[in-house]
Amino acid sequence: MLIHQTNNANRIVVKVGSSTLTYGTGLIHLRRFERLVKVLSDLRNAGKEIVLVSSGAVSAGAAVLGLGHHPETTEEKQATAAVGQSELMRMYSEEFSKFGHTVAQILLTKDVIDTPVRRANAESTFKTLLSMHCIPIVNENDSVSFEELNFGGNDTLSAYVALICSADLLINMSDIDGFYDADPRSNPRAKRIPELDRVDESVYAMAGGAGTRRGTGGMIAKLKAAQIAEQAHIPMMIVNGVDPDILYDIVEGKPCGTIIYNREA
Ligand code: GLU
Repeated sequence: MLIHQTNNANRIVVKVGSSTLTYGTGLIHLRRFERLVKVLSDLRNAGKEIVLVSSGAVSAGAAVLGLGHHPETTEEKQATAAVGQSELMRMYSEEFSKFGHTVAQILLTKDVIDTPVRRANAESTFKTLLSMHCIPIVNENDSVSFEELNFGGNDTLSAYVALICSADLLINMSDIDGFYDADPRSNPRAKRIPELDRVDESVYAMAGGAGTRRGTGGMIAKLKAAQIAEQAHIPMMIVNGVDPDILYDIVEGKPCGTIIYNREA
């Protein structure tokens, strides 16, 4: 049996996408949301340091505003995210508090990552929050960030968060079981690849296109995220977020999804 050694990871960045957090209706998948918060709380209780990168601001905003559709234009998405981000944090704060945990909201834009002084400041904020036993919950500052809605999305964001937190492991929870050698949505013979050393051209060649409309990710974005995490040799896992209990398997070192090791060459 393969042992991923993910059981040694202490500081873990978990990215959860809109397609995992919401139903096809665009409304929050409450059962999954509650379970995710409970499992993360339990891992925190076990001594793990957890940073959550959560999408869902646009979806939550659309629900609060009763839009009845996922916003299309950038202006509409940014306004909807402003409404939804606070709703999302209210829900996280309420749910985590049931288990005695305190959350902290961090909204990032790409220029924070690209500007050394601002990046160093963000690094120390994360460090301080973790030392205070908080669970930082991160999203892109969608309402003021035009890059977010056009390229990259939270897959990319989560990789940068893993870098600035010096994470031991990045877990990307999505609506797909892992990385496949062909697109499993169109090719029934596609096989999941349990482990990859790193992402290179041959891996890109196997990747399919974008996923569902409710998320901005898709496999290419996840592979790019893995390459960002490779800068600091942080392993990244791509797993299905349908059952948040998969996080227990990961911390117990059981193989699941796809792990991209990103080890030093
Ligand atoms: N930041 C966006 C949101 O919270 C989603 C971006 C993404 O899923 O990549 O709705």
